[in-house]
Amino acid sequence: MSASPAASAHEMRVSDDVARARPSRSLAPIVVAIAAGSPAADAGLVAGDQIVRVNGEVPRDIIEWQMATDEAQVDLDLSRHGVDMAVSIDKREGQPLGVDVSSAVFDRVRTCDNHCEFCFIYQLPKGMRRSLYLKDDDYRLSFLYGNFTTLTRFTEADLERVVTERLSPLHVSIHATDPDVRSAMLKNPRGAMSLRWLRALLDHGIAVRGQIVVCPGVNDGAVLADTLAGILDGFPELDSVAVVPLGVSKFNGEAAMRPHTVAEAQAVVDIVDDWQDVFLATVGKRLVYAADEYYLMAERSFPPAERYDGFPMHEDGIGMARTFEAEFHGRANDATGVRRGFFAAVDAPPNPASYTGLRSGASCATDSDSAAPISLGPRRDAPIGVLTGELGARVISPLVDSLSRSDVRVIPVRNDFFGGNTGVTGLMTGDDVARTLAGEPEGHRYLLPDVCLSDEGRFLDGLTVAELPRRVEIVPTDGIALRAAVEPRGSR
Ligand code: SF4
Repeated sequence: MSASPAASAHEMRVSDDVARARPSRSLAPIVVAIAAGSPAADAGLVAGDQIVRVNGEVPRDIIEWQMATDEAQVDLDLSRHGVDMAVSIDKREGQPLGVDVSSAVFDRVRTCDNHCEFCFIYQLPKGMRRSLYLKDDDYRLSFLYGNFTTLTRFTEADLERVVTERLSPLHVSIHATDPDVRSAMLKNPRGAMSLRWLRALLDHGIAVRGQIVVCPGVNDGAVLADTLAGILDGFPELDSVAVVPLGVSKFNGEAAMRPHTVAEAQAVVDIVDDWQDVFLATVGKRLVYAADEYYLMAERSFPPAERYDGFPMHEDGIGMARTFEAEFHGRANDATGVRRGFFAAVDAPPNPASYTGLRSGASCATDSDSAAPISLGPRRDAPIGVLTGELGARVISPLVDSLSRSDVRVIPVRNDFFGGNTGVTGLMTGDDVARTLAGEPEGHRYLLPDVCLSDEGRFLDGLTVAELPRRVEIVPTDGIALRAAVEPRGSR
C-alpha cells in the first residue's frame, strides 16, 4: 500500500490554499500531446509544458482541468524548461483546448485503507511495474474510470464536491450490508459505517453502481441473500449491482480465499436469479446481475439478453457473452459499451475522451490510435487463430464453430503467469501468449483482443506485441470486430 498520508478533502483544500501561494510543480500536470489546429496549438503550447495554474487556480485533477478549460477564456501559467510563462487563450466556450495532460489526478490518488483478503493486488507477483500495486480508493477514479470505491475514506467535503460537480455515476464496493461482515471483509472498522455515504449519494440523486465481490464461505449463501435484502431496504435507488467472484492467483497467501466450487457458483446464480424477481416486482428492475464468470463456473447457460436490462454493467463483465454473441451474429449494429482491461485506470491514456466519466470532444493524436486493427504480415486468406483466455474460449468457441470453417480456430491461452482461477481474457500476459504462440505454426493470422493490452500495446507483464514469436493482429474486443476480422476476403 502506498505510504501517502490520508488527507481528508478538507485538509486537501487547506493545502490547496498553500499551493496557490506556492504551487508544487512536481504535482503540476504536464502536457503530453497537442491536437493539430486546436486553440492550444495556435497559442504555441508544446508537449512538456507544465501547467502551474489555470485561470488562477491549481487544478487538482482532470475534472477541474476539464471544467476550467471549457471556459471561453483560458489563462495558463506554465513552466517551460524551468522558465515561467503566461498564456491567454480565447476560444468558444466548450470548445476543446486540444491538450492531453500526463495524468488524471494531479494532487495524489487517494489510496485505500482497507486490507481485504481477496484483494487481487496482494496476489500480484513481485517485480511488476509499480503503478499496478496502487490500491486506489478515490471517488474521482470511480467517476473517471469506473473503479470501485469502498467510501471508507470519503468525507463531507467529497460529498459536497460530488454533488456540486455532479460526478455521476460513481461505483461503490458493497460486498455486504451487515456492518460486521463488511468491516471484517475490508479489515477496516470504518467499513461498518461507510455505506452511510452511499445513502447520502443516493439522497442527492447521484447514480451509483454497486459491486459485491463474493468470497465462498464468507459472504455467499445466507450472507449474500441478507446483503440483497439490505440493498432492497436501504439502497433501492442503486442503478445496478454486479455480483462477481473473487479472483485467486497462485500468489494468494490467504488460506481462506479460494475459488468457488461448481455447487457454490450455482448457489450464487440461484440467489441472484431469485432476487432479480424480487427487485423486478418491488423496484421495477432486476437491479442485481451475476458476472458472466458465474454462469461458466456454474456450468449454466447465460441468461437471455433481455434479462440484462440494457447491460448497465457491461464493462464489469456482466452480459458480455450475450452482447458478444449478438454482435458476432450480426444482431447488433454497434459494439456494446466500454471494454476495460483489469488495470485500465493505471494504464489509461491521458486523453480525456477515454475516461468513462468525461466525454470531451478533445482528441489528440497519441499512441492510443494503435488500438485500431493492424495487419502485420500473413495473407488475408491464411488460417486464423483467435487468441483468448480460457474462460473467453468457452464463449467464443461455439460462435466460431457456428461458422463451420476449418480455417478458423480458437486458441485458449492458459494463464500460467497468475495461475489460480485467472482465466479471463483481460488478464492474459505476454509471457503466456508468447508460450502459446510458440507452439503454433508460422504463416497463420493470429488475432489478439485489445482488452489484454495497455494503450501503449503492452501486456500486464510489460511485454509488447512486437516481442511475440508470431505476428498478431490486434482486434477490438467485441463480436463485430471479431466477425469482420475472420470474414473471408471479398465477402465484405
Ligand atoms: S478496497 Fe480494493 S484495493 Fe483496497 S484492499 Fe480491498 S480490494 Fe484491495
